[in-house]
Amino acid sequence: MSKQLFQPVKPFYLHQKFAENKACVDIETGSKVITCDGNNPPEGYRSLYGPKGHTGIDIAAYHGQPVYCAQDGTIYMIDTQPKSGLDVRVESTVNGRRFRHIYEHLLGYRPREGDTIKCGDLVGWADNTGYSSGDHLHFQVEEFINGKWVPIDPLSVMEDVFALEFAGLWRQVQDLIARVAEFIAEKTGR
Ligand SMILES: [Zn+2]
Repeated sequence: MSKQLFQPVKPFYLHQKFAENKACVDIETGSKVITCDGNNPPEGYRSLYGPKGHTGIDIAAYHGQPVYCAQDGTIYMIDTQPKSGLDVRVESTVNGRRFRHIYEHLLGYRPREGDTIKCGDLVGWADNTGYSSGDHLHFQVEEFINGKWVPIDPLSVMEDVFALEFAGLWRQVQDLIARVAEFIAEKTGR
């Protein structure tokens, strides 16, 4: 079965998985995110996510790295919240299933609310806005199930990212071999 969503950031390196509980915030200030065991927060801190854990996946991204749309859809909301920072929210229907894919902690964004957007179009640029301890993309996917939007593990509906990475790496190796062959041919005059 073909998958529903594509990689928003390339290359793809996962920082924190779905449902993990590894971030805490200062109880008093409500900010200052630290890495912790969220089920056993250190004194003065509470879990950032609550008992259900992380509602999306965190993908490594450098400051200003382009973030691409994971599927054709419509921008239903762009806003700034204390937790998510600047976020862009897209709704798509794929093979009869309704998804929302949400891009958080952004530096800036390209589309406007109500715009239609294509898979692979620029959504915005990665940053560290909101509750975040470093530059990355929080990528959240929700599916409309029994009349409710429910966060699901994005990896369960994404293209095989490891296969994609391997294909990309293999193309680079082939390219390198071709260049070395060219270089040798040039040097030996053949
Ligand atoms: Zn996250």
